[in-house]
Amino acid sequence: MGELANCPKCNALFLKTKLQTVCQACIKEEEKSFETVYKFLRKQENRQSTLSRITEETGVEEELILKFIRQKRIQITHLPNLAYPCERCGTSIREGKFCKACQSDIKGQIDHLNQESALETERENSKKDTYYAYNTKNS
Ligand SMILES: [Zn+2]
Ligand SMILES: [Zn+2]
Repeated sequence: MGELANCPKCNALFLKTKLQTVCQACIKEEEKSFETVYKFLRKQENRQSTLSRITEETGVEEELILKFIRQKRIQITHLPNLAYPCERCGTSIREGKFCKACQSDIKGQIDHLNQESALETERENSKKDTYYAYNTKNS
């Protein structure tokens, strides 16, 4: 189900859904921009381009190019000078959602949580044991 909303780009009224966050006209614009960037990067000599160079050459704004990269419509595997910001701290990264520092930070937090929940389960189990022992003693 969508809801009527104003397009964040051109302010036109449109039916907003999860997948469609800008109006039809702006989607067409985005598609055109994608084509432009895609064609530009298909040329071997342009593969070394940085983000700002692409913006200069194609006229497509950085934000939009980053969006294409995040959507994996533009694969940066063969584009050594392209990167996008870590979703947590903004450091430039080339794969995944987070930079290495954030990854290990997040992993640390998850490990910590796992440890806590393991402890919690242990506590629960020992409670059950006590309860069980108590029951058998009395029956
Ligand atoms: Zn629009
Ligand atoms: Zn980070």
